[in-house]
Amino acid sequence: MTELTRLPAYPLTDRFGRPLRSLRISVTDRCNMRCSYCMPEQEYVWLPRHSILTFEEIDRLVGIFSNLGVDRIRLTGGEPLLRHELSGLVALIRRRSAVRDISLTTNGILLARWAEELRSAGLDRVTVSLDTLRPDRMQEFARSSRHADVLAGISAARSAGLTPLKLNVVVIRDYNDDELFDLLEFGRRNEAEVRFIEYMDVGGATGWSFQQVVSRREILERLSERYGRIHALYEPGSAPAERFALPDGACFGVIASTTAPFCSSCDRSRLTADGRWLLCLYGESGLDLRAMLRDGSTDDEISREITATWQERTDRGAEERAESPDRGALYQLASLRADPHREMHTRGG
Ligand code: SAM
Repeated sequence: MTELTRLPAYPLTDRFGRPLRSLRISVTDRCNMRCSYCMPEQEYVWLPRHSILTFEEIDRLVGIFSNLGVDRIRLTGGEPLLRHELSGLVALIRRRSAVRDISLTTNGILLARWAEELRSAGLDRVTVSLDTLRPDRMQEFARSSRHADVLAGISAARSAGLTPLKLNVVVIRDYNDDELFDLLEFGRRNEAEVRFIEYMDVGGATGWSFQQVVSRREILERLSERYGRIHALYEPGSAPAERFALPDGACFGVIASTTAPFCSSCDRSRLTADGRWLLCLYGESGLDLRAMLRDGSTDDEISREITATWQERTDRGAEERAESPDRGALYQLASLRADPHREMHTRGG
């Protein structure tokens, strides 16, 4: 087969017919929170600074990916707002007309400072992680005293027009599962749609156990006890959240990656801050795009490598995890230390 015949018919699809549409870019592996389900340890092995992609390198890759059909970019991390002058990267990506949606996932601590500037640079919308409305819980669970800053960040994002605004809530039994109603009402008051996320056994979650998972079914049961009948909104596509409506029409989402994975429609891939391209949140290895960026490879050569890799993709990590008996934490600490690319904060949530 010649190189030329390996180029895809548009859109580029994998072995299961899933298109390449969405790219999540981790811009840093550093974070200013220590959530127990993601970064519970005292010490971490960080990516070396020289390995972190520059904004120009990231933008070049975005250009290559967008030529292959990627039209949604999400900036994440680690905590993406720890990356100096992130709005500069947003402005570079905004110039690419094939990218129709640029979003950011953040813990919100620094958002009030940057919301307006990010909006002016061309950011479309923001998802803020907010697991609790109680500052004492955040202190205990995430080792952060910055709860008020998160709330200020949410408010600033709304004022800046970074909408539709979403709030990610990881639901964990005996931590915040008594706040489902309060968080939903908070979302309503703040014109933000809450997305309840099932606790996942991803890298970093070394203390994960199935008993702590509050399933989609249980979340819906608890909310319907309070609100009455809840309707599922049937929306085709590959969004990870299934959306539901309360009797009065207010909407919320549930991301049931643990009990009802959605691998069959997954069009997402991830780029780590040091340029490792991963085809699945659970993927063991990835394609080293930094090496190609820095060894003089042309855009065409990188594009061909990405194409060939996606065309061979068979990843369905969350489904495989769901099928595994005696499910426990995915990784023990030693294997995370041996390869920090396995960490959720490195591969980007
Ligand atoms: N620092 C940013 C933030 O807090 O949103 C972005 C990175 S964070 C890794 C992205 C998302 O992953 C957050 O909404 C976080 O709650 C979620 N997350 C991390 N570990 C998780 C786990 N074990 N199960 C489910 N969601 C998780």
